[in-house]
Amino acid sequence: MYNKRTGCVQNQQQRQGVNTPIFTSTANRYIGNDEIVYPRNFNTENQKAIVEKLCLLERGEAGMILSSGTAAISTVLFSLLKAGDHALLSREIYGGTLKLVKEEFTKFNIAFDLVPNAEIGNIKSLIRENTKVIYTETPSNPLLSVVDLQAIANIAREHQILTVVDNTFATPIIQNPIALGIDIVVHSGTKYLGGHHDLCFGAVVTTQKLKDIIYQSALNFGGSLNGLDCYLIERSLKTLALRVEKQNDNAMRVAKALQENAGISNVYYPGLVNHPNHAIAARQMEGGFGGMLSFELKDIGKTDEFLDRLQLIIPALSLGGVETTICQPSNSSHASLTEAERLGQGITDALLRLSVGIEDADDLIRDIEKALTA
Ligand SMILES: *Cc1c(COP(=O)(O)O)cnc(C)c1O
Repeated sequence: MYNKRTGCVQNQQQRQGVNTPIFTSTANRYIGNDEIVYPRNFNTENQKAIVEKLCLLERGEAGMILSSGTAAISTVLFSLLKAGDHALLSREIYGGTLKLVKEEFTKFNIAFDLVPNAEIGNIKSLIRENTKVIYTETPSNPLLSVVDLQAIANIAREHQILTVVDNTFATPIIQNPIALGIDIVVHSGTKYLGGHHDLCFGAVVTTQKLKDIIYQSALNFGGSLNGLDCYLIERSLKTLALRVEKQNDNAMRVAKALQENAGISNVYYPGLVNHPNHAIAARQMEGGFGGMLSFELKDIGKTDEFLDRLQLIIPALSLGGVETTICQPSNSSHASLTEAERLGQGITDALLRLSVGIEDADDLIRDIEKALTA
């Protein structure tokens, strides 16, 4: 029983307490039990309680939580692909995922092509006989381009290719890729699902059949999570919808204020009508346009000074928490790309990425305006 508005999910298994107790045992009785409970078997009470909620939120049949978003992504990719296979991936995927693909796929003789999001409509022409997976992420980091998931799902199904979507930026409160025909959703729970900048975990949600395949690799790769973290994750999920709603509202207000500001040249937010993918976003992101946006300062020489002058907004990496954080992708999240690669994606040195939190929107706008004019 899941209520989308409040994000509250009642566990199937009723207990007297409203919270799942923390189970810390790594040694569990086995005589008379067909299932051996063990954290790396992904079957502790605390793991199962979270997965149940995530499946309801993402409208999937089965899933797993893992020790990081990267553990979830690598486990999924290496469970579905083998030597000689080919994968198609969005070029604008998370930097760590790109690094994983470029460094590890090459070692294991898995071929791949990176498709710019702007050209993803032509993905059909890149499909090969050995293409097994299409992987994308929407909205993208840091320019918030939006990929039409239903279109991708339709093409992939026609060719019997599995689709994986990183739903970290949108969260299940905003969009449900599985409902659009996508096979597997992955998350960096470190961001919005955790939401307080104090947890690191990942999640996979999919069908029972695919979960069984991914699970076999997960057992071998071993990216499992402990009960104490699980407790905090379950607590975080209870406020996910509330946080995301506030972040949606705040981001929209900040984006509009930035657009009016003479010190700022470009604002990238899918909720703005002049965003190139606004129409797809409005259709696909049913629960709002998200808490991520980016913008460019007109006076690029002022970037360091601007970041220094912010009082409320924290220059920090990571995203999706209750506090608003800001970073300069060219020297942080996208520093490992060459300058040509960055500029090819439209990531200039003037670009700043904002992860809008749950503070008062007026305070956030004032903080930015003061730092610009000082
Ligand atoms: C942070 C992030 C990841 C990686 O997650 P970790 O929990 O840091 O391993 C993957 N995808 C996206 C979109 C992210 O923002």
